[in-house]
Amino acid sequence: MIADTIERLRAGVRDVPNFPKHGIIFKDITPILVDAQLFRDSIDIFLARCRGLPIDKIVGIDARGFLFGAAVAYALGVGFVPIRKKGKLPFKTESASYSLEYGDAAMEMHVDSIAPGEKIVLIDDLLATGGTSSAAAALINKVGGDLLEAQFLIELEFLHGREKLAPTPVVSFLKW
Ligand code: AMP
Repeated sequence: MIADTIERLRAGVRDVPNFPKHGIIFKDITPILVDAQLFRDSIDIFLARCRGLPIDKIVGIDARGFLFGAAVAYALGVGFVPIRKKGKLPFKTESASYSLEYGDAAMEMHVDSIAPGEKIVLIDDLLATGGTSSAAAALINKVGGDLLEAQFLIELEFLHGREKLAPTPVVSFLKW
């Protein structure tokens, strides 16, 4: 049943070669989002992993981490914290810079979005080099959050992103 779901979700990921630049194979998750059953399955797979963890808040990474993270937070009945690209959040922020598989950037989180000691699960659509999520982890730690684990729908294992996130435990469901 779970293996079945994983196979269907895997088949729903569309490879787009040379986007956003030459040499990158972009893993497009929009075919999952537009399919009611696949979208539900993608949320359920995160939920199955989250149930049993003592989670206070879900943190999602701009922008595709919001799609999965917010739905998971809703279903768990916990708060959702957005980590956004620099310049988007209106209130006081903590900031961290990071490097992408295809560029450099900085991202921000509102200083009052996590209370010290709160137990956090970090969610994004895809783990590549781990630059983005390790910067997100740094932001969570900076405000005193207790990061239980980082969860990703997709992991590009050949980029070894989970090593960059250590010692944070990493969970992913679809691996390439
Ligand atoms: P990284 O910081 O290298 O782990 O990159 C992860 C972030 O960049 C995630 O927010 C992904 O959505 C995005 N990303 C990186 N590489 C890809 C890819 N090949 N396909 C789709 N999204 C990607």
